[in-house]
Amino acid sequence: MSEQSDIKSLHAQYVMPTYAPGLALVKGRGATVWDADGNKYLDFLAGIAVTNVGHCHPRLVRAISKQTGRLMHVSNLFYNEQQPRLAEALAKRSLGGKCFFCNSGAEANEALIKLARLWGHAEGRYEIITMRGSFHGRTLATLTATGQPKVQKGFDPLPAGFVLADFNDLDSVRAAVTDKTVAVLVEAVQGEGGVRPARPDFIEGLQALCRKKNLLLFVDEVQSGIGRTGHWFAYQRYGVEPDAIALAKGLGGGFPIGAVVASPKLADVLQPGTHATTFGGTPPACAAALAVIRIIEEEALLENATKTGEMFMESLKKVAAKYSFIREVRGAGLMIGLVLNQPAKELENILREHGLITLATAETVIRFLPPLNVTPSEVRRAAKIVDRACAEWQKRLSNPGPDDEPARFKHLQLTKD
Ligand SMILES: *Cc1c(COP(=O)(O)O)cnc(C)c1O
Repeated sequence: MSEQSDIKSLHAQYVMPTYAPGLALVKGRGATVWDADGNKYLDFLAGIAVTNVGHCHPRLVRAISKQTGRLMHVSNLFYNEQQPRLAEALAKRSLGGKCFFCNSGAEANEALIKLARLWGHAEGRYEIITMRGSFHGRTLATLTATGQPKVQKGFDPLPAGFVLADFNDLDSVRAAVTDKTVAVLVEAVQGEGGVRPARPDFIEGLQALCRKKNLLLFVDEVQSGIGRTGHWFAYQRYGVEPDAIALAKGLGGGFPIGAVVASPKLADVLQPGTHATTFGGTPPACAAALAVIRIIEEEALLENATKTGEMFMESLKKVAAKYSFIREVRGAGLMIGLVLNQPAKELENILREHGLITLATAETVIRFLPPLNVTPSEVRRAAKIVDRACAEWQKRLSNPGPDDEPARFKHLQLTKD
């Protein structure tokens, strides 16, 4: 039995099957990860846009270990020296205003929902408009906000106060506004929805609509934020200024932390007793996020994300032109989707057999989310693997038969070390 199969059988016995993991990964460095049997992979998923400065960046590791050795937790009943520094760093790079800290993306969106309801309460306004194809988390409120019936199935009755509209269709949002509407929540690039960037006229039109109707405009930057699209936050690609944004995923570079940044107008809506969480903004979590911000700035990773993102997109477009099952390559910065005309899971598996980790999403899209410090040569290697994997898939598709059954995880092409 390999190390991997030991881990897998223990997991199957004791961990609830909410995920169906593939590999047992045990070590990482930059854009490279190793499984328990010593196979090496190029990681173009980065924990789903979490390890934005790469695996185990020495400065990030040092910041976390230094802070955990000094003070790990005191509760928000006390000041901690890292939290206001991080709040300042985030506010100055986005909306001004103030931050609330939590531990995940779902919690950040939950805080936005509560903030909107409190803000609209005196006028009896509580409805929040969200988009079809969106993803906002797995708590009851955020799965209701999520515009995908598959995440809601079996969990009714769902909380009231959420209304769906069509992404990239301003008329549909306009039609959803009632005298109860308080806010619009949107992703600037839908991630789980298949790497679909918002059109500029949609986002700008949303802002105009919100101003006209006195609605709050919220952008869920949990996946698209922290440099992912070559900007600190994806809304900055457009000429808009939201009222608040939700962050998590890449914020701690792998250390769990979530945040809301609210513009000055909403900075003091949440008051003592209205919202809280024990672990929100602990000293190590804030130290991690501060290190991530410094690394992104000092290593010019926004510029690198733009440059390597364009390179990768160009290479993928050349690959796409060779295969009839690829419909489109789309995205922004290092948030890139290869859109197929059929289910993408099989291609995700073949890519993995060739040593490239990606994720099939929205059924037909292969999603690439490499770390922001990915190098041009890693991007070239990944593009070559995509080409080879597509060629292999094309062959399998054209001669289906028992001999062409994919040999799962044989790692024929992988390097050990
Ligand atoms: C992942 C994600 C969430 C949920 O974040 P969790 O940390 O898993 O709760 C919310 N919104 C978007 C856009 C996401 O990609």
